[in-house]
Amino acid sequence: MNYYNSIIDTIGDTPLVKLNKVTKGIRGTVLAKVEYFNPGNSVKDRIAIKMIEDAEAAGLIRPGGTIIEGTSGNTGMGLALAAIGKGYKCIFTMADKQSQEKIDILRAVGAEVVVCPTNVTPDDPRSYYSVAKRLNQEIPNSLYPNQYDNLSNTAAHYETTGPEIWRDTEGRITHFAAGVGTGGTICGTSKFLKEQNPGIVSVGIDTYGSVFKKYKETGVFDEGEIYPYLTEGIGEDILPQNVDFSVIDHFVKVTDKDAAIMARRLAREEGLFVGWSCGSAAHGALEWAREHLQDDDVLVIILPDHGTRYLGKIYNDTWMKDHGFLESRQFATARDIVR
Ligand code: PMP
Repeated sequence: MNYYNSIIDTIGDTPLVKLNKVTKGIRGTVLAKVEYFNPGNSVKDRIAIKMIEDAEAAGLIRPGGTIIEGTSGNTGMGLALAAIGKGYKCIFTMADKQSQEKIDILRAVGAEVVVCPTNVTPDDPRSYYSVAKRLNQEIPNSLYPNQYDNLSNTAAHYETTGPEIWRDTEGRITHFAAGVGTGGTICGTSKFLKEQNPGIVSVGIDTYGSVFKKYKETGVFDEGEIYPYLTEGIGEDILPQNVDFSVIDHFVKVTDKDAAIMARRLAREEGLFVGWSCGSAAHGALEWAREHLQDDDVLVIILPDHGTRYLGKIYNDTWMKDHGFLESRQFATARDIVR
């Protein structure tokens, strides 16, 4: 019989899918690694299981324990699935800018969710970082994986995402692009790929309102770069230990609006119903590719999650219009088209 022993065993081996329409005018081949094929519908399943298994091996959590994490939702989903298989409880702290869908999904798989204010500094006791740390100190036999500074995050991508891309492109990849949040995806994957071929160029996608691009270019942690933005999952107001700037060659910043419009184009033009930060990654990577890609080049872009989590936001025309992200001529109804 051909079956998996548990849902955890279905993580990884996601497909590379060629982008055909949004790449108009770009030379070379552009492939998307579609991470919503993971069982929790995101790239984060990979790091969740790795962080738990590394913690078990180090004796940091015992049977019946509680996993506590600050998460924008996707890591929580991965941790929740892994916890079900392994018999742990989960408590997640989330910033209140995150989609209601993400909170509902985590509760659906049995996790407790604590919603914290977004616009406070990370060291404020009310921030989702601080609340997670406090709960970890208060609850016995609890594990705080801390995806930002836990190097099992980068290791998961070094061990799985990188080798899969190298195998599936038969070593022909020349450029790699991914959004940067904790940094695990881009740094683990880039490190593996650059060990195979040091010529591979790695492009990190950042948001306006985040510190990464300026830090890479100047070495200065500029608090003036920090302001509120809407895109979920990428950009930071801290420098996580998983961000190794030596394996990221360039950064491109993308606005909330350009990201939202590109995500909608991926859904409608490529049939890839993906999340908001996928729009950031694709918009930024394609902007880069338009200037730099040659005919024989192969660019792989990570698309981290699925569109269902953003139905009330970027896939809702009224929400898009209210945010000034949709021009009225793009706001066509079926009746307008018939007319
Ligand atoms: N997009 C989404 C939707 C995410 O949840 C994350 C994780 N924060 C990322 C992109 C960025 O990935 P990483 O944390 O590995 O840098």
